[in-house]
Amino acid sequence: MTKLFSLEGKTALVTGANTGIGQAIAIALAEAGADVAVAGRSEPTETQKAIEAAGRKFLSIKADFGSTEPVQRVVDETVAAFGKLDILVNNAGIIRRADSIEFSEADWDAVMDTNLKVVFFLTQAVARQMLKQGGGKVINIASLLSYQGGIRVPSYTASKSGLAGLTKILANEWAAKGINVNAIAPGYVETNNTEALRADAERNASILARIPAGRWSQASDLGGAAVFLAAAASDYVHGVTLPVDGGWLAR
Ligand code: NAP
Repeated sequence: MTKLFSLEGKTALVTGANTGIGQAIAIALAEAGADVAVAGRSEPTETQKAIEAAGRKFLSIKADFGSTEPVQRVVDETVAAFGKLDILVNNAGIIRRADSIEFSEADWDAVMDTNLKVVFFLTQAVARQMLKQGGGKVINIASLLSYQGGIRVPSYTASKSGLAGLTKILANEWAAKGINVNAIAPGYVETNNTEALRADAERNASILARIPAGRWSQASDLGGAAVFLAAAASDYVHGVTLPVDGGWLAR
């Protein structure tokens, strides 16, 4: 049974893992046995401590995923350090809030570039490496707005709905080549990304009232799904976007 969920001997790359969901997933993968490289623009000090405390190798790569510039370097540095790359978690992402009627082109481009364009090209670069190795696991961090419209977040909804589609097309192309491409759709998670929602008492109360689990998600709630999608347990799972949302979509 444990073999199904063990990541012993595996190496993972997680983007944006200095905080929030990426940090929790990087730590969960390490606790399941993986060595972990994290790539992002902020110092991942706490993440490093937790991964090393789990007895795993850790690598930090400086990268700004606002453009495709660092993509190949990030893959090369990971492979140079660990010798291979088995698991990619596309977590780094941003959100911009404004009424659609006045939403700016800059806020459209920034979100689409980070959440969708760079994710595609990083995944392409990683998949070229995975194909040489005979396979791997790609996990995209999607959103409830891969399923729903949301409000005041047009580029975010477009990017995360696009990401669910990308998850499917890449699964179609690569499933027979040993690469599993899947996504996780977190619910409402207490991170920097949702600070503005929690600061608005009315919005916070209406969100909480709709969550069957009766609480916001902690970032650590995403760890189990990530380990599952990274491990042998999910070898026949392709192209899904798995909600981990306290029951929100069932409502
Ligand atoms: P977060 O705490 O704001 O973390 C976002 C991460 O992405 C940070 O590490 C951030 O780095 C990194 N990042 C953003 N832009 C980057 C760039 N240009 N280059 C490199 N790294 C960049 O938010 P989070 O909630 O954990 O979000 C993680 C993912 O989950 C995102 O894709 C988000 O859309 C998704 N998500 C979140 C929720 C939620 O309720 N919180 C729900 C559904 C989906 P810095 O710290 O340097 O900014």
